[in-house]
Amino acid sequence: MQVLFNCPGCEQTRLAAIDSQTETIGCPECRWSRPIPPGAIQAGAPQACLVCGCGDLWRQKDFPQKLGLAIVALGGILSTIAFSLYMPLTSLGVLLAFALADLLLFTFMKDVLVCYSCHARYRNAELRDDHPRFNLETAERYRQEAARLENSRHAAGSPP
Ligand SMILES: [Zn+2]
Ligand SMILES: [Zn+2]
Repeated sequence: MQVLFNCPGCEQTRLAAIDSQTETIGCPECRWSRPIPPGAIQAGAPQACLVCGCGDLWRQKDFPQKLGLAIVALGGILSTIAFSLYMPLTSLGVLLAFALADLLLFTFMKDVLVCYSCHARYRNAELRDDHPRFNLETAERYRQEAARLENSRHAAGSPP
């Protein structure tokens, strides 16, 4: 399993390889580390976020949204070119082909787990089919919690 996370110590994106034998997750640069409690990873999937301890993780396709948009945009451009060259069928074909490519890519992409609190991403975890997907209410709860923390930090006058 791979964990892509934003290091709480130096705020850089780090990648860590984790298996059921791994005892700590940490940052090679700033020496931030956090022990992984026994039983935190069960049947190949984290029961809670290994970076921040948050118990809510959602599953989603490991599909970079930018790539999806780029494919659609490229299809649109090529299709427009074909249309301007008086090839309406080619134009339509190009559009359909790119939409299909997008769909196929999305279908065969593996799922990842994402932490609601720190947005760490867990790749290659063994996921149950019924693992909860993204829930806006839960996300909103975490977002407000983070905003409250941020506010109280500012109120206390400590540097951000
Ligand atoms: Zn770090
Ligand atoms: Zn987390």
